[in-house]
Amino acid sequence: MNLPDIIKFVIDLLAVLLLALGIKGLSKVRSAREANILAAFAMLLSVIGLLAYYLGTSGISNQSWAWIIIGSLVGSLLGTLLAKKVPMTSMPETVALFNGFGGMSSLLVAIGAFLFPFNEGSKAASIEPFINDVSISVSIFVGAITFSGSIVAMAKLQGWLSTPGWTQVKARHFVNIVFGVTSLLAFIYLISGNISSVWLLVIASTLLGIGVSLPIGGADMPVVISLLNSYSGIAAAAAGFVVDSQLLIVAGAMVGAAGLILTQVMCKGMNRSLVSVLFGGSLSSQSTTSSGSGEYTNITSCSVEECALTLEAANRVIVVPGYGLAVAQAQHTLREVTKKLEQNGIEVVYAIHPVAGRMPGHMNVLLAEADVPYEQLKEMDVVNPDFPATDVVLVLGANDVVNPQAKNDSSSPLYGMPVLDVQEARTVFVIKRGMSAGYSGIKNDLFDLPNTSMVFGDAKKVLNDLIGELKDLGVGEK
Ligand code: NDP
Repeated sequence: MNLPDIIKFVIDLLAVLLLALGIKGLSKVRSAREANILAAFAMLLSVIGLLAYYLGTSGISNQSWAWIIIGSLVGSLLGTLLAKKVPMTSMPETVALFNGFGGMSSLLVAIGAFLFPFNEGSKAASIEPFINDVSISVSIFVGAITFSGSIVAMAKLQGWLSTPGWTQVKARHFVNIVFGVTSLLAFIYLISGNISSVWLLVIASTLLGIGVSLPIGGADMPVVISLLNSYSGIAAAAAGFVVDSQLLIVAGAMVGAAGLILTQVMCKGMNRSLVSVLFGGSLSSQSTTSSGSGEYTNITSCSVEECALTLEAANRVIVVPGYGLAVAQAQHTLREVTKKLEQNGIEVVYAIHPVAGRMPGHMNVLLAEADVPYEQLKEMDVVNPDFPATDVVLVLGANDVVNPQAKNDSSSPLYGMPVLDVQEARTVFVIKRGMSAGYSGIKNDLFDLPNTSMVFGDAKKVLNDLIGELKDLGVGEK
C-alpha cells in the first residue's frame, strides 16, 4: 500500500466508525440530534477523503472534476433547500424521496459502470468479471425497485396519487410475478454476459417497484418507507462492489441492516407481518367496506371552559399527541398548558404511540422542540396500564392510535394494531376540528363512548383558549 492508499484507508475507517456511532445515537431521543450531525459529518469526511485521494493521485480528468463540482453544488443546494423548507408533517414524503434518490444513484452508477467500463489498470477494473457483473446486476435490480417504489410512496403520501381500485384485485400478484420473473431472467442473462438485457432488467425492476408499492396504503405506509430505506442501503452496498469502494459497501450494509431492523420493529408495533404489508393491499381501500365505516350515534361535545374545569380538579393527566398537533404546530402552546397544570401539582405525562404522526419518532421530535422533558414521554407499553388510574386524557389531533376498534372489532382494518387504551381513563377530551377520520379513513369508536367529550377546533386555538380559561381559574398562577 502506498501513502495515499493508507491515508484513504484511515479516513474511510474513521468515517465508518463515526457513521456507526451516529446510527447508534439515533436510537435514543436524547442523543438523536447530535447523532444526526455526527452521521452527516461522517459522510462529508468520506466525500472529502475520496476527492482528496483522487486529487493526490490525479485519478480524475479535468472534465470529470467539472461535473463533480456541478453535481455537488446542485445536490447540496437542493438538500439545504428541502431541509429548510419541508415542514415536519411532510418529513415521510421527504424521506421517501431521499430513499428514491439513493436507489437512483446506485442504479446510475451501475449503468455507468456497465456502459463505460473502468480504464485498464484502475483498481475497479481489476475486479473479477463475474463478481463485477453480479454486483452491477444487483445494483440495477435493487436500485430500480427502490427508486420507483419510493417515488410511488412519496406521491401517495403527498396526496398526488391514490390507490387505484384495480390494484386491489388478486390478479395484481400475477402481474407482479411477471415483472419479477422477467427481472430474474434479465438478471441471469446479464451475469452470463448478455449485455443487451441490461435495459430489460432496468425496465422490469422499475415496473416491479411500482407494482408492489402502488396497492399499499393507509397505516402500512411507514413500514414500506422503512423497507425502501433498507433497500437503498443494499443498492448502495452493491454499488460499492461495482466501484470497489469498501466505504460504500460498509455504509450501505449498515443502512440496509438498520432499515431492516426498523422495519421489523414497526411491523411488531403495528402487529402486521411484513408479508401481509407487502402483499395485503391497501388498508384505506379495505376500510370503505369495513364495519368501522358506520355513523356516529352518541357524540358529546363540550366547551373549552368545561374542559378547563375538569382539568383543574384532576390529579393525573395523560396527553396523547397525534398528527393534528403537528399540523396545528401547537407543541409550544401545549407545553404552556401542561406547565400550568404541573404548577398546580397535577402530574402530566405524554403517551407516545410508535406510529403517531407521519413518521417514526414524529411526536418525540415535535415535543422535544417544545422542551418537554424526555422523562415525561412514555412509550405505549409503559403507559397503557396507567390509563385506568388517570383522571383526564387530552387527545390532541390523534385518531387512529386511540381507536378501540383495533382491539375490539375483528372486521376492522385496524384490527391487531396495538393502540393506546385511553378509553380506560375517567374522562377523555378529544381535541380536533371536526369529525374527519384519521389516516386509515375509518370511524373511531372512542368518540361514541360516554366518557369521551369532543372539544372542536384547531388544536392551537383550543389550547390557547385553554390557557385563558386556566388563568381565569387561577391554575398555575402561583
Ligand atoms: P391520524 O392521522 O389518525 O388523525 C389525525 C387527526 O388529526 C385527524 O382525525 C384530524 O381530524 C385531526 N387534525 C388535523 N389537523 C388538525 C388541527 N389543526 N387541529 C386539531 N386536529 C387536527 O393521526 P394519528 O397520529 O392518530 O395516527 C397516525 C396515522 O398515520 C396512523 O394510521 C399511522 O399508521 C399513519 N402513518 C404513520 C406514519 C408514521 O411513521 N408515524 C407514516 C405514515 C402514516 P380533523 O380533520 O377532524 O381535525
